[in-house]
Amino acid sequence: MIMLEIKGKWVIIMGDMLQPGKCITTSQTISTLAMRIGILGAGQLGRMLAQAGEPLGHTFTFYDVAPGEATTGIGKTIVGGFSDLEKLEAFARECDVITYEFENVPCESAQFLATIRPVYPPPSALEISQDRVREKTFVSELGLATPQFEPASTKDELIKACDTVGYPCIIKTRRLGYDGKGQARATDRESLERIWEELGEAPLIVEALVSFSRELSVIGARDTKGTIAVYPLAHNTHVQGILHRTEIPAPSLTPATLESAQSIISTIMEALDYVGVLTVELFDVEGTLCINELAPRVHNSGHASIDSMKASQFENHIRAITSIPLGSVEPLDRAVMYNIVGTLPPLRKVLELPRTKVHLYNKSERAGRKIGHITILDPTPESEAIIIEALAAR
Ligand code: AMP
Repeated sequence: MIMLEIKGKWVIIMGDMLQPGKCITTSQTISTLAMRIGILGAGQLGRMLAQAGEPLGHTFTFYDVAPGEATTGIGKTIVGGFSDLEKLEAFARECDVITYEFENVPCESAQFLATIRPVYPPPSALEISQDRVREKTFVSELGLATPQFEPASTKDELIKACDTVGYPCIIKTRRLGYDGKGQARATDRESLERIWEELGEAPLIVEALVSFSRELSVIGARDTKGTIAVYPLAHNTHVQGILHRTEIPAPSLTPATLESAQSIISTIMEALDYVGVLTVELFDVEGTLCINELAPRVHNSGHASIDSMKASQFENHIRAITSIPLGSVEPLDRAVMYNIVGTLPPLRKVLELPRTKVHLYNKSERAGRKIGHITILDPTPESEAIIIEALAAR
């Protein structure tokens, strides 16, 4: 497959069109815009990527260790292990381009797939974001602010690292932590023995406890030509480590904060020669931004973009990885999103509100599981109260 820009139009030329003397007609170029997109992971992010790509004519194949409820009926799923090279190769051969919807895809699998088909975002982004020490070292070396941090691989190193960073501090596993899992707060040296055991005696990172005023995230997209589009900053509130509410655009931002967020995400995307959507989670420390972590994928804090932006984060990820120019990231409305976690709330009153959108992921109910989200456009305290009441009524 070759992608060319001819007279300002993107033309995708498939192998069977590359025959000597064969002309490519306009109708062929239009029909071949549709690509076979492979997604590693079969969760709700994959579902929403496919829902955004389907109107553009794309078809989707998911690869995961088990069939995902969220992607049932939306595309084909290949079930296989991430180290099963034979299955991965068969998957790759069914795709024109491959992406991923969770950042714990083993790097080796992504690198292997990249020898067969283009994989976006680049596997190097996975490698960096999977290890909190590498991630923080990488962003610090770009001159961007992170909490002070120290690595620790043994109990003695943990004591030394905490003494260096100071108490209270946050201790996290270097790998595989999410939604606040795999982390603990240390208030003194005495707590370290217990924390070392609780965190599985695994390689750790110790971070200074940042006294932030709020948590923000910035989502950007970069296409194959290096064009970058940055969504408005989102203000995120968590409950028990899980995202609960996102308001986008975040209120009360100064031009300096906006500029700083834009510069942070552009610097990171350029350094990685990134293609696709990237999310940077940030702490707002009285207007100064400090990077908490990177997610090399579409993000929960961007879900409102489906209903509130000209082009959603999902559409722009698909556009970026299929070499189509990015859509506008301009907000159409102010929006608030609430996650539906665990069990389904009564939704009748929520749906009676004129400007709410409910998105359910076809996932069965289970404690702590994200099974859907509600977006309300142009919310008022009264309309938000109805959503909060419904969520509390479970
Ligand atoms: P993480 O898994 O790194 O995103 O952390 C989960 C949550 O813990 C964040 O959303 C913050 O609320 C909190 N947190 C993480 N790191 C720090 C830190 N260095 N200082 C203060 N709070 C933190």
